[in-house]
Amino acid sequence: MTHALRTGGDRGYLRIATEEAFAIPEQLDAYLRLVRDGRADKATTSLWGFYGTSPSERTTFIRDRLLDLDAPRIQAMDETGVDKAILSMTSPGGQVFEAEEAKAIVTRGNDVLAAAVERYPDRYYGMTSIAPQDAAWSVQEIKRGRDELGFKGVMVNSHIQGHYLDEPQFDPILRACAEGDQLLYIHPQSPPDNMIAGMVEAGLDGALFGFGVETGYHLLRIITTGVFDRYPSLQIAVGHGGEALPYWLFRINYMHQASVRSGRYERLKPLKKTVVDYMRENVLVTTSGMASEPAIKLCIEQMGEDRVMYAMDYPYEFVADEVRVHDNLAIPFEQKKKLMQTNAERAFKL
Ligand code: CA
Repeated sequence: MTHALRTGGDRGYLRIATEEAFAIPEQLDAYLRLVRDGRADKATTSLWGFYGTSPSERTTFIRDRLLDLDAPRIQAMDETGVDKAILSMTSPGGQVFEAEEAKAIVTRGNDVLAAAVERYPDRYYGMTSIAPQDAAWSVQEIKRGRDELGFKGVMVNSHIQGHYLDEPQFDPILRACAEGDQLLYIHPQSPPDNMIAGMVEAGLDGALFGFGVETGYHLLRIITTGVFDRYPSLQIAVGHGGEALPYWLFRINYMHQASVRSGRYERLKPLKKTVVDYMRENVLVTTSGMASEPAIKLCIEQMGEDRVMYAMDYPYEFVADEVRVHDNLAIPFEQKKKLMQTNAERAFKL
């Protein structure tokens, strides 16, 4: 099982990690201020109240590595054979702040990332972070990210203070991604107050469960409310093996059609295609935090071999053996090359 992990593509493919996180100090300080002042929602209180202050080895590592965009990160990539990282501001980005504060932090984050990409052009790509609370501003930032900063794709950290991208106020953002040919990546954050309910008490609000179900719900809403009928060229990526939707796909697809036919729900209107079609034509999934052979194979079977991309989820996940799991997958070489390299090159237009 164990083999040396080297960069350089000597296995016939490069390893491009597609969901890799960084932070700026102003961002982490602002989360802590929110928590300290009692202005944070339950999710941010639970998540950053812990990650922002815990002295444990793991959380200290994560905090330090989020803030680093230089030698330690490059060394970590070298040690685990990651050739290129597609970097984005860590969750929840600016989405938990008032719009003005969000825009200031996100602008600074995008500038810091652009400078890092300039320092390491062979190793890093950047994604544009936005502040969806101000859709018109976000449209301009998406353009600035693409045209001035050279970024590939747009990052949204799931719900926007309990609101979802299919709601009309966010339509300009979806249009900007579709018309600007920018992949929209929907990354988890903890569920909003009206969903998180008993999850915190049970310890299930974070990456263990809450992240996945909330983000899967977000993507499913986007599909069933007809966003892809409005924007047929829009491409959306989610991480963590598709946030359970590929596994659930048969039942979702079947029950969606049955529910539409029943006429029971005002908002479940007939769509031009099936949920399966949208998943195979408009959605990509990454393997962040999901280094499981059966899960990755299931994603490839359900979504098609062109729609699954490698991710490490550094620095939250930094496990060399998870890279080996990908290298050792019992799938044809051409599929593996797509998974590790060429699907990302195509989807992000690298
Ligand atoms: Ca992540």
